[in-house]
Amino acid sequence: MQPDAKRSIHSLLLEEIEAHLATLGQRPYRAKQIVDWLYEKRATAFEQMSDLPQALRERLTQGFAFGNLETVRVLGSKDTTRKFLFRLGDGNLIESVLIPASPALYGERSDRRTICVSTQVGCAYGCKFCASGLEGFSRNLDASEIVQQLLAVETASGERIDNVVFMGMGEPLANLPNVVRAIRIINAPWGLEIGARHITVSTSGLAPQIRKLADEPLQSRLAISLHGATDEVRDRIMPVNRKYNLTTLLQACDYYASRKKQRIYFEYILIAGINDAEEQAHLLAGHARRLGARVNLIPYNKVEGLEWSRPSREIQERFLSIVRGHEVVATLRREKGHDIDAACGQLRLQTKRELQAAPVNVD
Ligand code: SAH
Ligand code: SF4
Repeated sequence: MQPDAKRSIHSLLLEEIEAHLATLGQRPYRAKQIVDWLYEKRATAFEQMSDLPQALRERLTQGFAFGNLETVRVLGSKDTTRKFLFRLGDGNLIESVLIPASPALYGERSDRRTICVSTQVGCAYGCKFCASGLEGFSRNLDASEIVQQLLAVETASGERIDNVVFMGMGEPLANLPNVVRAIRIINAPWGLEIGARHITVSTSGLAPQIRKLADEPLQSRLAISLHGATDEVRDRIMPVNRKYNLTTLLQACDYYASRKKQRIYFEYILIAGINDAEEQAHLLAGHARRLGARVNLIPYNKVEGLEWSRPSREIQERFLSIVRGHEVVATLRREKGHDIDAACGQLRLQTKRELQAAPVNVD
C-alpha cells in the first residue's frame, strides 16, 4: 500500500472505476476515458486528463494515488538483459528484468520482449539457492505495484513489452489476490492488452494455491519451480517441500491440467552436485511426460555469499538429452544476462549490501 494509504488508481479494474464514478454521480463512459489515459496515453497525474471536468480531476486526485515507481538503478543496455531497481512509495526496493528477443521458453514467439516482475518485497519461502529469500519477507506488492513495473520499464526502455513472467522477487501464489488482479489489468483490452498466453506465473510449489489458480477464469500459463524430481532433493533445497511434498504438488498440477487448456512448464535449475544426477533427469522426464508438461532447464546463476554453482556444460547437455530421450519437450537456457546477475533478487541484495557498507547515494 502507498504510505498515504490512498489506493493507487493502477490497482483498479474498469468496472470498479465505473462503480466509483457512479457514487460521484458521473456517467460510466468517464471510466473508459480514465483507463485510456492510464494505459494508452500513459498519464502520470489526473491533472493531465484534459477531457475530464476539472472538478472530477480534483476529486480523483483526492481519492486515489498514482504512486509511480522511482527508478533507482538500471543495469545492462539495449539488446541485452536489463535490470531495473525501483523504489516503492514506502522506500522498499524491488527489481524487474527486461529480457530482449530470447529463444522461445514459454511457447511464445522468439522475438518477444519479456519482463520478469516481482510480486513481493523479499520472499518467505527461503529456497537455499535464491537471493530473494536471503533477507526474508517484508510485504506483498499490491496490484498497482505489479502493473507499474510494466509501465515503468516500457517508459525507461522505450520498448513495448509483449510477454510477462512472474519470476522476479517473491512467491506469486502467496500473494494470489493481488497477482490475479494485476493479471486482469495486464490482460484486459482496456488495460495493457497482453494476451493471457503471454503471461506466466511461476511457483515454488504452493499446492493449495495452484488449485485456486486452476479455478480462476484465466488462461495464463503456469510454471512450477521443480528443481528436484524426488522429495529427497527438494527437501534439501526448498523448505516449501516439507509442507507440500512432491506427491501433493504433482496432484495439484494434475488438477490444474484438468481445468486448463494450457500446458504446465517445469523449471529446473541445474545446480552442481545437488540435482544434476542422471537419475533425476529420468525421474523429471517421467513427471513431465505423465502431465504433458514441458521442461526448461536453467543453469544456476551464482549468488554472492552462497556456495552453489552450475554444473559443466557437458553435464547440462547430458541432462537435457536424457530428458528429451523420454520424448519430453525440453530446453536448456543458454542465457543472456549472466554477466549482470540476471537471477532476480540479486540487484536489490547487492544494492542493499552496498548501502549498508557505505551509505552512498544511488539515485
Ligand atoms: N517464487 C517463484 C517465482 C520467483 S523465482 C518461484 O520460485 O517459482 C523465479 C525462478 O528463478 C524460480 O524458478 C527460481 O527457482 C529461479 N531462481 C532463483 N534463484 C536462481 C539462481 N540463482 N539461478 C537461477 N535461477 C534461480
Ligand atoms: Fe522465494 Fe522463489 Fe526464491 Fe524460493 S526461488 S526463495 S520461492 S523467490
